[in-house]
Amino acid sequence: MTQTSHTFQTEVTQLLQLMIHSLYSEREIFLRELVSNASDACDKLRFKALTDHALLAGDEDLKVKVRADTEAGTLTIEDNGIGLTEADAIEHLGTIAKSGTKEFVAGLQDAQKTDVAGMIGQFGVGFYSAFMVADKIVVESRAAGASSDDGVRWESTGDGSYNTESIARPQRGTTITLHLKDDAKEFADGWRLRSLVKKYSDYVGYPIMLPKQPTGDEEKDKAAEGELEQVNSGQALWTRPRADITDEQYKEFYQGACHQWDDPATRIHVNVEGTLEFTLLLFIPSQKPMDLFNGTKSRGLSLYVKRVFIMDDCEELLPEYLRFVRGVVDSDDLPLNVSREILQENAVVTKLRQQITKRVLDHLKKLATSEDDEERKLFATIEDQFGAVLREGLVNDMANKDAIQPLVRYRSTWTETQEPPEDAPALKTSITDYIERMPEGQEKIYYVSAASLAAAKASPHLEGFVKKGYEVLYLVDPVDEWVASNLGEIEGKQLASVAKGAAELGDDDDTKKALEEKQEGYKDFLGFCQESLGDGIKEVRLTARLTDSPCCLVADEGGMSTNMEEMMRRFGQDVPTQSRILELNPEHPLVQSLQQRHGSDSEGLGDYIAVLRDQALLAEGARIADPAAFAKKITAIMTSAVS
Ligand code: ADP
Repeated sequence: MTQTSHTFQTEVTQLLQLMIHSLYSEREIFLRELVSNASDACDKLRFKALTDHALLAGDEDLKVKVRADTEAGTLTIEDNGIGLTEADAIEHLGTIAKSGTKEFVAGLQDAQKTDVAGMIGQFGVGFYSAFMVADKIVVESRAAGASSDDGVRWESTGDGSYNTESIARPQRGTTITLHLKDDAKEFADGWRLRSLVKKYSDYVGYPIMLPKQPTGDEEKDKAAEGELEQVNSGQALWTRPRADITDEQYKEFYQGACHQWDDPATRIHVNVEGTLEFTLLLFIPSQKPMDLFNGTKSRGLSLYVKRVFIMDDCEELLPEYLRFVRGVVDSDDLPLNVSREILQENAVVTKLRQQITKRVLDHLKKLATSEDDEERKLFATIEDQFGAVLREGLVNDMANKDAIQPLVRYRSTWTETQEPPEDAPALKTSITDYIERMPEGQEKIYYVSAASLAAAKASPHLEGFVKKGYEVLYLVDPVDEWVASNLGEIEGKQLASVAKGAAELGDDDDTKKALEEKQEGYKDFLGFCQESLGDGIKEVRLTARLTDSPCCLVADEGGMSTNMEEMMRRFGQDVPTQSRILELNPEHPLVQSLQQRHGSDSEGLGDYIAVLRDQALLAEGARIADPAAFAKKITAIMTSAVS
């Protein structure tokens, strides 16, 4: 048979380098990854066999066998699942499909000094993790349905290339042989393997068979030589009673079956009976994946029908804004031959999705409003990681608006003044709590939207509100402006941007009157400003919104904020620049001096006004149209100030 040599995709080579030189202390997880792949292969075959029973071809008992040869220093993991063709082997064992993994490798390249061990622990790096313990790996496989001379051998020492060749293989499925590194021979020990399988793979729904261990009775042991026995309990975890499952077992399931790397923050395990019968075993991760916003939008639930695996990433079972939830849905009501097409228009699926959504939202609410500090802390962690995703629901799922709204949390001018919580994410407030703190006279819920927390905190628009004792929410995630405009009213209170419309602060009679009086004296100056600024500014007016800053830019009541405008551009939308209103603070000495200067000597005044406008843009974290001209004007102003 001829061998063909292939080079790994660059990312794989990098990943392998990492694995080979890894000093990761928990490298034993490689076994979990390989057993999990073997179990997935059995799942895939069982599913395919639903419509093509012949694929099982006299070998119906799907199982995984783990055997070691201490003398040869090898460990084999064997399954009679779906198997691989040569093309599959090249595609799956030579490239990386998962976007997160690619980003992981990219991240490592940027930061050579990154904590490699930590990163391996954080990513399920699947098959390739076996190179942590093996210096050579041989995969032999035959796809279900292929003939016995149509097998494949894949072989690599992990050094940038691998070989494949066509082989004869009597049985279906995959055998993976690891040639253990000298410092990894411990993984050929029978007891060690048993305990690892128990620890990491007990939940696997197929028997995991290991050699019987010696009992000490020589005769018996001799007779039993080579015999295998089942080591895991072999019952899909979600079908077991909750009381029989330990936290540790749940965690192993989460990491092994759901291919996660962190600890689950919380779980929902329910068996629902009634018009719709199903079991849910859902987890909410404690850390967000790298591709939560920019990668696939796939949703992390696997669908089973009556314990038979149907598909991974079943989008129909969750709305997109809950895409961070992981786990399994096992339905008794769907037909076994359900396909993606059927799922899309199936009434049972629609009901399932509603129920799953409700249960996740209810569970989150329970944590958020719990009497138990630990549960509230858990909620804070989940909110910190996934709050911005969850809030997409306020825009996309109006039916559940009332269930999502109580889960919304923001930092605010108030939370920043509080003692920061210990080992928990920064303090945030719910809108209900905000409303409770509203002083008399405050009618609306105020927010500032900006591209970052720092920009929000530095926003000049806050000044007058803070002085008046009004709390302002910091909306700093891209989704939040949409959320704010969609939320409308909460508990009868309207949400209002501090950077839009005429400042409400001028609403009380005294302030209003004082402004109006000043307006008279400033009339000519304001007209001059507007003229010299030209098109981009549609009005120049006085404001009570500011205390320390001389000026700020605001949008019309219904207009788009600078932040929103920038964001739309970032998403590739072609938005015309909105013309804004420049507001001046008549209490500020600079504004007062400029106004006086206008009366006597207007020379160069236009430049001052342009600089004022530009720094108002800078102050809110936006870009200025002509930075070079701005710099030039500043230089001129400074020169005349110091000369
Ligand atoms: P993941 O399992 O997360 O997709 P892996 O690197 O562990 O990533 O595996 C890559 C792919 O190789 C799998 O998705 C699967 O298609 C294939 N594969 C791995 N192990 C087996 C196996 N035992 N039987 C059949 N296919 C396998």
